[in-house]
Amino acid sequence: MKNDSLKNPAVAVIGAGMTGILMAIKLREAGITDITILEKADKVGGTWRENTYPGVACDVPAHMYTYSFRGNPEWEHRFARGNEIQKYMEKVAAEHGVSDQVRFNEALAECHYREGKWYLSTSKGNDLVVDFVVAATGILHHPAYPDIEGLDGYQGAMFHTSRWDHDVSLEGKRVGIIGTGSTATQVISEISKTAGELTVFQRTPQWVCSVPDKNYSESDKAKLRGNQGLMTKLSERYAFIFRNIFTAAVTGNKVAHAFVNWTARRNLRKSVRDPALRAKLTPDYKVGCKRLIFSSTFYDAIQRENVRLETTAIERVSERGVVTKDGVEHALDVLILATGFKPFNFMRPMNLTGRDGLSIEQAWAKKVQAYRNVCLPGFPNFFLMLGPNTPIGNYSVIAMSEVQSRYVLKLIDQWRQGNLATVEATEEAKVRFNSYIKAGMGKTVWVGGCQSWYLDADGDPAMWPYSWEQWVKELDQPDLADFHHSAPAETAPLTPWKKVA
Ligand code: NAP
Repeated sequence: MKNDSLKNPAVAVIGAGMTGILMAIKLREAGITDITILEKADKVGGTWRENTYPGVACDVPAHMYTYSFRGNPEWEHRFARGNEIQKYMEKVAAEHGVSDQVRFNEALAECHYREGKWYLSTSKGNDLVVDFVVAATGILHHPAYPDIEGLDGYQGAMFHTSRWDHDVSLEGKRVGIIGTGSTATQVISEISKTAGELTVFQRTPQWVCSVPDKNYSESDKAKLRGNQGLMTKLSERYAFIFRNIFTAAVTGNKVAHAFVNWTARRNLRKSVRDPALRAKLTPDYKVGCKRLIFSSTFYDAIQRENVRLETTAIERVSERGVVTKDGVEHALDVLILATGFKPFNFMRPMNLTGRDGLSIEQAWAKKVQAYRNVCLPGFPNFFLMLGPNTPIGNYSVIAMSEVQSRYVLKLIDQWRQGNLATVEATEEAKVRFNSYIKAGMGKTVWVGGCQSWYLDADGDPAMWPYSWEQWVKELDQPDLADFHHSAPAETAPLTPWKKVA
C-alpha cells in the first residue's frame, strides 16, 4: 500500500528466481520504487530456469506451488512440469513489471556495508549504493559433484542434472546415472523410455510415495479462469493435506508418520513384485529421514527391461565408464550425475562483508545459521530469503518465502517510518533462536540415522522442526528487542547507479 509520508529506501534484490520476483512485487506494492534486481542469468525463474533435465517437475501440487496472490488456471498437470513453472514465473514477473527492473546477465560481485549503507559492485563493473539488500539467491543451486576417483578422465559425455546437455542424445545409448534422489527418480522415469540401456547406480535406496498425477482438462482450467477465490481454495486444500500428513509426519506426529510409513511401504510392496529387486530398493532408515520422494512412475521405470539397478558401490570412474567395487567395468556412452547440491552455500561465493569488515565466511565459519532464517548478526539491513532452517518437509517454498517477505517488509517499514536507520539481529537472539531450533529436532525423523543434504557438518538438520502454523506465528511480527537498531540520522543522498567501465 502506498503511503507518501513514508521514506523510500533504495533496495537491491539479488536474484530473480521465485523469491526475488516475489520480493520485488511486495516491495513495489508497499510503495518502494527504488528497486534494483540483479540477475546473473538472462532470464527470471531461478531453479526452474536452471533445471531443464528430462522429467523435471515439481512434486508439490501446482496449485499449491503458486503465489497466493496470483493463482494459475493454466496449470496443465497436478505436478507441474518445469517448463510450465518457468512460463508462470516469467508471466508473473512481466505482469508486475518486475522483468523490466531486472539487470540481466549481471551478477553481484562485491557487497560491503559501511555506516548505514550497502556498497555493491557487479560483474559488469557497475557500482550501486543502497539502504537494504535482500539476497534471494535460493538454496539448491550449486551442483555437488561426487568425489569419485577418475571422474575427470571419463571420455564419454558427462553432466550434472542441473547442467543438462541437450545436445547429447540418449536414444539407444548406454546411459549411467549416479543417484536416486528426487531429481534422479524424475530423470530415470523419463529417460528410461528412450535410452538403450540405463544403469542406475544407487548408493542408498529412498522411500517413495505415489501421489497420482492428473492432467487438467480445458474444462478444469475454464472453471478456474478469473476465479482467484476458487484457486485459493484449491491451493489451501492441498496445503492442508500436505501440512497435516507429510509435514506432520516428519516433525513428530506419530499418527501421520505411521500413515506415511504404511503408504511408502505399501507402494514398494505393490509396485515391485520381484523380491530381490524389492530388497535392493528397501531403505533401512525411517520413512522421511531423507526427503520423501513423490513419484508414481519411478518403480515402473526401474523395472523396464532396459534398466538395471546397480547397488555395488562405485570404486572409480574409468575412461569408458563406471567401475564398481566387484571389479566390473560398466561401459557407458553417457554418465549423468544426479548427485544433488551444496545446500549451505546460499548466496556464496560472494565477497560479502558486513559491519566492521566481518565477512560472510567468518560469520559462518563455525556454523551456517541465521536469526529467524532471514537475519544475520553483523549484517545490518541485509536479509536472506530461504535462509538456514527454512525448508519445511515437502511443503511449498513459495508459501514459506511469502511469510518471510512480510517479515522483511515489516522491518523495512520501521526504517521507512523513521523509527530506525539500521536493523541487525543480535548474536544473542541468533543463539537463542538456534537453540530453540535444536530443541525441536529430537522429535523429527531427520535425525533418524540417515545421511541427507538436510544435515550440516555437525549432523544438525537445516530444516524447520516445528509446524507450519508455528512458522507463520513466529514470523508474524519482528521483535525489535532481538535487534540492534541505530537511530535515524541525516541521510546522505544516495550515489546514483553509475557505469564504471
Ligand atoms: P539428493 O537428494 O541430494 O540426492 C543425491 C543422490 O546422489 C543420492 O541418491 C546420493 O546417494 C547420490 N550420491 C551423491 N554422491 C554420490 C556418490 N559419490 N556416489 C554415489 N551416489 C552419490 O539430490 P537431488 O535428487 O538433486 O535432490 C535435492 C533436493 O532438490 C531434493 O531433496 C528436493 O528438495 C529438491 N528437488 C525437488 C524436486 C521437486 O519436485 N520439488 C525435484 C528435484 C529436486 P546417498 O543417498 O547415498 O547420499
